[in-house]
Amino acid sequence: ALRPAGLPAIPELPDGVATEGEVKAALAAYGVPVTRESFAATPEAAGKAAAALGFPVVLKAVSRDIAHKSDVGGVALGLRDAGAVAAAAVAMQATVAGHLPQARIDGFSVQEMIKGAAEVIIGARYDPLFGPVVLVGLGGTIVEILKDVAIAPAPVAPERALRMVESLRLAPLLQGARGMPVLDVPAIVDAVVRISWLAHDLGGRLIELEANPLLVRPVGLGLVAVDGRATLV
Ligand code: ADP
Ligand code: MG
Repeated sequence: ALRPAGLPAIPELPDGVATEGEVKAALAAYGVPVTRESFAATPEAAGKAAAALGFPVVLKAVSRDIAHKSDVGGVALGLRDAGAVAAAAVAMQATVAGHLPQARIDGFSVQEMIKGAAEVIIGARYDPLFGPVVLVGLGGTIVEILKDVAIAPAPVAPERALRMVESLRLAPLLQGARGMPVLDVPAIVDAVVRISWLAHDLGGRLIELEANPLLVRPVGLGLVAVDGRATLV
């Protein structure tokens, strides 16, 4: 596989569990589009940050102690004004603390709200036998139920990444099935290639990394990673 131009020499990710923001910064450095977002330490600051971003926004709890934010009330979608953001942040602190009293909440991530026609997951891990591997799957939360994923040793060439995407059982969803628009498969292929290089560059430091989901738009309009997580050694 040919290394895409402009990738950093060494990915910047901390040891241990990375935050969503840290993973998105690494994805962005590798050329994968991510949400515009900012960090806010308090509910009031979150309201101000949202006004600067433009509405609607998504609010999330920032904590290394939370693996699945939405399971504990740590994600609020479609907030339409600064007051709603600040109120959601106050409520979120209480809800998350109710689920996970021991979790340390560093603050809030305020993000642009992305509209996508399909959710894709791209993951990577270090396999003791194969070394770094990359996987792609379709269907957001459905992925975990259907196990509709394709996996290959990293890095992958674009041709291989395209075959991975085309091998998915849900691939017809990307091609305008059931009156849906034709989605941006080249953007998915490009993201698989770039994340495979990120996995390659992390090498044995990588335990697992995931962009989940990336929201895919109609062809020509690309995709955006709206969540990311990673664990490194
Ligand atoms: P979790 O830690 O629970 O995986 P996510 O950050 O993935 O939390 O958010 C849960 C869901 O909310 C996502 O799967 C996606 O459907 C939606 N979502 C999250 N962030 C955004 C965003 N910025 N724009 C649009 N939808 C989003
Ligand atoms: Mg997620």
